[in-house]
Amino acid sequence: MRFPEDIQDSVEYDVVIVGAGPAGSTAARYAAMNGMRALLIEKRQDIGTPVRCGEGIAKTWLDKMGIPPNPEWIANEVKGAKIISPDGHVVRLTEKMAGNEVGYVVKRELFDKELVKMAIKEGVEVMVKTSAIGLLRDENGEVSGIRARSMGKEFDVHAKIVIGADGFESMVGSWAGINTRLGLSDINTCYQYHLVGIDMDPNFNEFYVGSDAPGGYVWVFVKGKDEANVGIGLQASQLKNKGDVKRCLNAFIAKHPHLAKGKPIEEVAGAVSVCAPIDRTVADHVMLVGDSARLIDPMTGGGIINAIISGKIAGKVAAEAVKKGDCSEIFLMKYDEEWREELEDRLLRNFIAKEKLVELSDDIFNKIIHALEGYEIEKITTLDILRAVQERYPEVIEELEDLL
Ligand SMILES: Cc1cc2nc3c(=O)[nH]c(=O)nc-3n(C[C@H](O)[C@H](O)[C@H](O)COP(=O)(O)OP(=O)(O)OC[C@H]3O[C@@H](n4cnc5c(N)ncnc54)[C@H](O)[C@@H]3O)c2cc1C
Repeated sequence: MRFPEDIQDSVEYDVVIVGAGPAGSTAARYAAMNGMRALLIEKRQDIGTPVRCGEGIAKTWLDKMGIPPNPEWIANEVKGAKIISPDGHVVRLTEKMAGNEVGYVVKRELFDKELVKMAIKEGVEVMVKTSAIGLLRDENGEVSGIRARSMGKEFDVHAKIVIGADGFESMVGSWAGINTRLGLSDINTCYQYHLVGIDMDPNFNEFYVGSDAPGGYVWVFVKGKDEANVGIGLQASQLKNKGDVKRCLNAFIAKHPHLAKGKPIEEVAGAVSVCAPIDRTVADHVMLVGDSARLIDPMTGGGIINAIISGKIAGKVAAEAVKKGDCSEIFLMKYDEEWREELEDRLLRNFIAKEKLVELSDDIFNKIIHALEGYEIEKITTLDILRAVQERYPEVIEELEDLL
């Protein structure tokens, strides 16, 4: 074990990973599994906290990523989700149909730690309370690691590859010249309460759409019999004043008696990217994973699973590059191509759908969800959905033409 305070001027690793969220710990784990000496640094003192997340996650993807479910970090298991229109119509989606955020509601503070423990088991070194403050460059201008700071002390971490897993507010990308900039319409600003004492069916998470959450939605992710994460995400371009997001959430909760009886034990603000996939997620000696690579699903705002998927691919490709002695952007494009193969179609499709959905009026949302009420939304396809809407509300189909 190595403490940052014991480091004189510098240390050397094959790969340094900046940020110990799900993307970083997974990238570190797979790099170490493939023979790399990997260092994972995290600026916070306690991995996983404060929790800025609805904590919804799909079961199936966890299975696929080889993360065995553990009751220690699972708060609740749901059967599916209810989508609720502005006038209160409800359509129920099974867990399979409800996207990557429905299945388990986890305890992120423990889930994130579990992923880091899995990385440590593979030999990863971890330093908490340690921030990357810039990239190191060699005499040829090539990236050769990071400059780090821990409790006022600075040191160099030399590494052949830097993996930026530093989340939504990522700096590693811009330091490396990768364009990760977001316009206001590419950001959803979020606010969330952990409410206790509410009245909920613990089997279903809830999503409320329409003008209560302009350009976004309200989520209720059930953590237990009488508690849930109740949050809102609003398109940043639609916000006029500081505090708008919290005000909208408060107004929404006040209108819904089953939530209004709850008491907050935690509140957090945050943001997610809701952009189309960016052009490039690698540069010479640098790779971006998870939120720093803008891999959040633009329709749902969920990003845990995509962070894990991209981290796994990045860790493996980083090891290949180091072993081959070629950490050029051209070689690292293998990572870029592989995550796109897995995720890009869905990200792009959901970006297009989101762009349409932010324009829909309450009236249209009411009609769509009313038309779908009573359907078994496990077997139904997108075309079936459109047929159902057309049958009841033919005028709405014109509005949805782009989605077709
Ligand atoms: C309000 C809200 C609700 C959400 N709800 C859901 C949900 O229900 N389901 C879902 O799937 N997704 C949800 N998301 C998105 C989800 O939280 C992220 O997609 C996920 O955490 C991405 O993981 P990551 O590892 O890429 O980034 P993060 O989890 O953000 O981890 C980045 C880490 O990097 C560290 N870091 C940053 N800069 C530095 C530095 N310079 N040096 C060292 N360390 C650094 C940070 O401290 C942090 O620990 C939500 C997001 C928000 C804001």
